[in-house]
Amino acid sequence: MAITSNDTSITGLNIKHENAPVVGVLALQGDFREHIEMLNILGVVSCEIRLPSALCDLDALIIPGGESTTIARLVLQYGFLEPLRDFCASGRPVWGTCAGAILLARDVDELDRPGIQAMDIQIQRNAFGRQLQSFQSQVAIDGISDGEFPAVFIRAPAIIDVDASVEILATLPDGKIVAARQRNLLATVFHPELTTDVRLHNLFLSMID
Ligand code: GLN
Repeated sequence: MAITSNDTSITGLNIKHENAPVVGVLALQGDFREHIEMLNILGVVSCEIRLPSALCDLDALIIPGGESTTIARLVLQYGFLEPLRDFCASGRPVWGTCAGAILLARDVDELDRPGIQAMDIQIQRNAFGRQLQSFQSQVAIDGISDGEFPAVFIRAPAIIDVDASVEILATLPDGKIVAARQRNLLATVFHPELTTDVRLHNLFLSMID
């Protein structure tokens, strides 16, 4: 049975059990609980991260969807910016979903504060229109077998340009890039944690050494 801990009141908690990887989910705002739930389903040790000091215990980090301007504000307010940049530079896997992908991007339109800016992608916020234009679409993703993925786009951004070192994993028919990977960094502009499909979480977990 998986051992999980969502308790960040115990800062620096030593929650490594028999070398099982520990995956943190940044829990400042957004749908971090849904990611934790997915990790629980997969039997992965997980932890909600609310303080920069808790990052050191992790083998991988997920930055959830939500509202990127709010998350960016809280990242600054709680002193997360440099620790998150260091985490990305450490080589440990980091996955940004939707607003999380916005936070990871080197270049974003209309983000009023700096994000982490670790991944060489250019992102356009709200690229599909307003909340009412949210949609679900079956998307073929490189590295995901057994058929297309049910991708949920909620006031989603799009990746509109990437550096040559970025691997494009999924593109919509109109050319918008919706999933990409660069070294240890994974970005998806949709929400796998809102589905019952664990394949993208498994892909991310496979990036842990
Ligand atoms: N539109 C949001 C933003 O720009 C992202 C939406 C989401 O994470 N589902 O932050």
